[in-house]
Amino acid sequence: MGQTLARWCYYLNFQLKKLRHLPRSCDSVFHRRIDVPLLTPWLAPIVWDGTFDKDILKEQFQDRNITIGLTVFAIKKYVVFLKLFLETAEKYFMVGYKVNYYVFTDRPADVPKIPLQEGRKVITLVVQNYARWQDISMHRMEMISNFCHQHFFQEVDYLACMDVDMKFSDHLGVEILSNLFGTLHPGFYGAQQKSFSYERRPQSQAYIPKGKGDFYYAGGFFGGKVQQVYEMTKACHEAMSIDKSNGIEAVWHDESYLNKYLFLHKPTKVLSPEYLWDEQLLGRPAFLRKLRYVAVPKNHAEIRNK
Ligand code: UDP
Ligand code: MN
Repeated sequence: MGQTLARWCYYLNFQLKKLRHLPRSCDSVFHRRIDVPLLTPWLAPIVWDGTFDKDILKEQFQDRNITIGLTVFAIKKYVVFLKLFLETAEKYFMVGYKVNYYVFTDRPADVPKIPLQEGRKVITLVVQNYARWQDISMHRMEMISNFCHQHFFQEVDYLACMDVDMKFSDHLGVEILSNLFGTLHPGFYGAQQKSFSYERRPQSQAYIPKGKGDFYYAGGFFGGKVQQVYEMTKACHEAMSIDKSNGIEAVWHDESYLNKYLFLHKPTKVLSPEYLWDEQLLGRPAFLRKLRYVAVPKNHAEIRNK
């Protein structure tokens, strides 16, 4: 009898000790955020500050020896955004990991030379331009899918495909990595589904009927493993080509086709608006503890179609 009691006491003490010695990383489990959604209806994580532990992720990723590719387009006047984009990326984007910046441009001489950390390089890919800014934006899907076989499959494990009229302003690391990820569009975070600016004309390949759709994703930041990004960008380009041959262009260009694809192929991770924000336009609501990738003010008349 006495012995059983002693064993129970020992066991309880042992369990209590385990609780007291929980690693700091378990804080997030006990202080779960309740101000924001943390999971999609298909159980993909929505990434926010307070939902991941950098140190654990570092341990998990360090041995995998991965390389991350970042595709960014700087065509015509948009080359002016490259310096700040790359400088801030060196400070905040995937610090400690191997990164290939793929700069797609028609003005290779204007790609700034900036000092890079070890294991990181800029690869300039010379591409054609288009007269309309909408065509430049849309043809990104085609160009990304085209360069998968020439570069990405051999050179990187993951791709992050990002707008250039932006800068990094806080940690943006491996917590985003997954087979296929999209980012919540800051202008539609918390908005009702019926207000999402999906393409509503049934004739378009990007059509999403009223009452359907999960989130409104931003065209300015998506990615995943090279295979998944290849499949997505190829499908979006094909959908655009079909529309073009039928004389129709989706209301928000590449973003509309991206939204259709991610509606049909659910992303395995969703990035919160910490990962794409515009403070000028939207201020700084309390649920945003971090601003990681933010819009740089641009004068549309000065920059577009130039
Ligand atoms: N872009 C470019 N040159 C142009 C127009 C667009 O390089 O003349 C690229 C650039 O990477 C830009 C992206 O396409 O960030 C999307 O266009 P924009 O940022 O103007 O769209 P918005 O974010 O305002 O919807
Ligand atoms: Mn942009």
